[in-house]
Amino acid sequence: MLKNNLGYPRMGSHRQLKKACEQYWSGKITRDELNQAARKIKEENWQLQVNAGIDLVPCNDFSFYDQVLDMSLLLGAIPARYTPVLSTVKTNQEIDLYFAMARGYQKDGLDITAMEMTKWFDTNYHYIVPEFTVNQEFRIFSEKIFAEFNHAKQISGKAAKPVLLGPVSYLLSGKEKEAGFEKIDLIKKLVPVYIEIINRLKIHGAEWIQLDEPYLALDLSKKEKEALVYTYGEIARRCGGIKILVATYFDALLDNTQLAVNLPIAALHIDLVRAPEQLDEILALVPESLSLSLGVIDGRNVWKNDFKKSLAHITKAIGVVGTERIMIAPSCSLLHTPFDLDQETEIYPEIKNWMAFAKQKLQEVNALYQIVNGNTDLYHANQEAITARQFSALTNNAAVKARVEGITDADAQRKSAFPVRQQLQQERFKLPLFPTTTIGSFPQTDDIRQLRAQLKKGELTQQEYDTAIEKATIDSIHLQEQIGIDVLVHGEFERNDMVEYFGEQLDGYLFTKNGWVQSYGSRCVKPPVIYGDVSRPKDMTVRWSNFAQQQTDKPMKGMLTGPITILQWSFVRDDQPRSVTANQIALAIRDEVVALEQAGIGIIQIDEPAIREGLPLRKANWPAYLNWAVKAFRISASGVQDDTQIHTHMCYSEFNDIIENIAAMDADVITIETSRSQMELLEAFSDFEYPNEIGPGVYDIHSPRVPSVEEMVDLLEKAATSLPAQNIWVNPDCGLKTRKWPETIAALQNMVDAAKQAREKLAEPQTA
Ligand code: GLN
Ligand code: ZN
Repeated sequence: MLKNNLGYPRMGSHRQLKKACEQYWSGKITRDELNQAARKIKEENWQLQVNAGIDLVPCNDFSFYDQVLDMSLLLGAIPARYTPVLSTVKTNQEIDLYFAMARGYQKDGLDITAMEMTKWFDTNYHYIVPEFTVNQEFRIFSEKIFAEFNHAKQISGKAAKPVLLGPVSYLLSGKEKEAGFEKIDLIKKLVPVYIEIINRLKIHGAEWIQLDEPYLALDLSKKEKEALVYTYGEIARRCGGIKILVATYFDALLDNTQLAVNLPIAALHIDLVRAPEQLDEILALVPESLSLSLGVIDGRNVWKNDFKKSLAHITKAIGVVGTERIMIAPSCSLLHTPFDLDQETEIYPEIKNWMAFAKQKLQEVNALYQIVNGNTDLYHANQEAITARQFSALTNNAAVKARVEGITDADAQRKSAFPVRQQLQQERFKLPLFPTTTIGSFPQTDDIRQLRAQLKKGELTQQEYDTAIEKATIDSIHLQEQIGIDVLVHGEFERNDMVEYFGEQLDGYLFTKNGWVQSYGSRCVKPPVIYGDVSRPKDMTVRWSNFAQQQTDKPMKGMLTGPITILQWSFVRDDQPRSVTANQIALAIRDEVVALEQAGIGIIQIDEPAIREGLPLRKANWPAYLNWAVKAFRISASGVQDDTQIHTHMCYSEFNDIIENIAAMDADVITIETSRSQMELLEAFSDFEYPNEIGPGVYDIHSPRVPSVEEMVDLLEKAATSLPAQNIWVNPDCGLKTRKWPETIAALQNMVDAAKQAREKLAEPQTA
């Protein structure tokens, strides 16, 4: 029985890689110093894994930016626009080309855009999307994987297991940049290069190669399935004497089970955390030649493994295939978990004893191995912690549990239907046609961020801090009045982050000091941890909304983050369904909505930018998720009177395929990102009539560019062809916190002018 690990966090124990990369980008350290920092991280990681007793220690899981981009470089899939990076600037090396692909290149007289970035399955990790052309060629371009393999051997004294994204998943994660072909058709050109890589690794001494094929856990077309059979058939035929482990994760194999277990490979890794139910079918079908790597330890969360559950899987599998053909492993690469729980000195010890980060998860792999071999002490210690958590007063709040159980359909239902509410809201707010608003935040300038840092360090008193935030708020309100915006916001100057701000005020949440997880490139996030039943001990936003409303006669929008987004961007409990946690958060937000209403706030926005990213990977599971997610939002929004106007906001993704579910959220107004795609969203309304009011973003806040009045009028006219004019709002496509003030003011002035022009143009009586 082998102890296997699929991948390890590469930022380093103290985010050294982030710092080194950023210093290299700004010219503060040399290429050698950057490489030195990387070498150190890799060496520490390998050493740590060897010490933890891992048999199959991964290599090439390290990456300066992203492992998919590494593959593009390894395979020579380098878009033509990057050629000048090496040819024009002779001092550049491969790493500079690599960073140019990741981040764009704007110097030495060159101006080359970065490659696109998108979410890695249902994680919060973003990868660089490979670009393919009709005449796409592949060849070994980068030597990184070979160098890293040799380096690992030096350090650990034995062969590490090189990790690559498998050929089929590499192609499927990319994008066709030209018409006239399907990316999967490139498989015949691609596989020979993989074979060359594998054979070269074998010459260097590799015994195992891990090829990640996460797409095996997704819905696949016939062609894609054939590509998998072809790929692994070819590799088996042409790469003798080396063992291939195909890794799947994030979901179940389901209809791809037959295919997967019959691939001519040495081992198959399966995710038994996300999809424990798949084990039986796999065991029933597994041929004698195949080993199974059992992903029993959650690579996506921060909790201690329940050895009882894991051992049940392991012993069942051993019963069918025998110990020699079993590996114990985390469910996926540990890239998605923070580095080391030992660094957390401020987590309450009782709770800390329920947790495990990457380093601890390796120890769990080892412990399970030892328990299978008779060590009962380790088992009992683990079960003590699991039981303690289960019955702890810290996780259990009887009142919250009872309230969630008592939720009725009526709780998820506004008092009257939308047309009635719309009428009442029109009478109350008397807004013009094409009302203007913004999404919530205004520029979080260095001044504002510094205030928060000073408060933390004790250089400012709470009072001084509050006064400074009040001033920023007042200024932004005056500015919005001057510009002539109809529904104002307070600017969110008091908030660090849209989830953290609420997490800090909710019970059941904890925050780590060093729980960083890579989000993309050098950017890391530190998700808050939900450990217990969530409740709201007191008002969270009323003070600031109230203060803001007092400064103006215009309606001031209250601003909240919705239950699904709070859930999605936190580490959540694994001891109850996500839907239950979502409902707990929904009730807390509902109480805040009602408190705002009682304080006289008539318009309240509940942001749900993350609702789409919670979608399950398999389409068959979409309806169940959408059902509870939409309901949780509705619970948060439905405690108010008919004349209180509920807004929601969404961004970051395409919404056309879930537009009916978005409508089912029944927000009175939705503001939604669409400007980058020139209102592609509107296509959804050709065969679906969106029933409520909607503000399709009229300009892209992700760039400092100031949009012209004309282009926004055009977009509004375009919107008015697919939506009733009286339902259209005018707003940017997201919050403005990442922008600077000058462009923000110019853009909003143009936006208000555009709304005025559209009113004149579109309010005219239609003449035949
Ligand atoms: N209200 C938030 C803001 O304006 C929304 C942010 C978001 O959509 N990600 O910053
Ligand atoms: Zn947004």
